[in-house]
Amino acid sequence: MPLQFITYHRTEEVASGKDVYVLTHDEFSHQVDLVAQSGLSVLRSPALDFSDDAYRIGITFDDGYKSDLINAECLAKKELSAWFFVSTANVGRPGYLDQNEIRELERLGMTVGSHSHDHVKLDILSMEESRRQIFLSKEILEDILGHRVDALAFPGGGYRPAVVAAALDAQFRYLMTTDWGVNRPPFQAASLLRRNNILRGTSDKDFLRLIRSDSLYARQVGFSGNQVAQALLPEGAYRGLRQWFR
Ligand SMILES: [Zn+2]
Repeated sequence: MPLQFITYHRTEEVASGKDVYVLTHDEFSHQVDLVAQSGLSVLRSPALDFSDDAYRIGITFDDGYKSDLINAECLAKKELSAWFFVSTANVGRPGYLDQNEIRELERLGMTVGSHSHDHVKLDILSMEESRRQIFLSKEILEDILGHRVDALAFPGGGYRPAVVAAALDAQFRYLMTTDWGVNRPPFQAASLLRRNNILRGTSDKDFLRLIRSDSLYARQVGFSGNQVAQALLPEGAYRGLRQWFR
């Protein structure tokens, strides 16, 4: 059965800007309620049991914003958990998690992973610099957490074979892309995992369709990410996504 990842970024108290990746706290917590009420099972991180064929949703957050902590508390109240991907150069900077807050995520039952050091697209860097980004962020996170860090999410969804090879050299086991779609077995260790960005203003109907992998999402195999996005998203959101894919 498929494994469906959904991805969030920052949330805020009151909607302020035009960034389609920023949801309000209320919008997020409403979606957490929808997940809880759906009866679908949510991946209990960090276990990703490849022999288990149950359908699961995985929840992920990118970039390491301060709002991660609020959202982790919201998830923990419903006994749900998520993976949080942190760019280590931002740790402690205004608006981003500090070291204690990263450890607090784990105390709330969440899993922390790397999102490179400087939040740079790894596929456009020299091989040397892309390796440095991958290895350094892992080392810093492992120092903060005091244990091995297994998962890496590629910033901006940027990866290529040399980036994947570097991630495997660094002993990452779970590699998260932002390629749209459902993950279907057979899974292998170090499979590239697809994830679906949740954008501001997503209707309940579309959200539920996504987490259940209904209709178009279930048939996305023959579509490129752009085509799926174009088919499902309002015009403004689609323009935002195109920038992301570029
Ligand atoms: Zn990012």
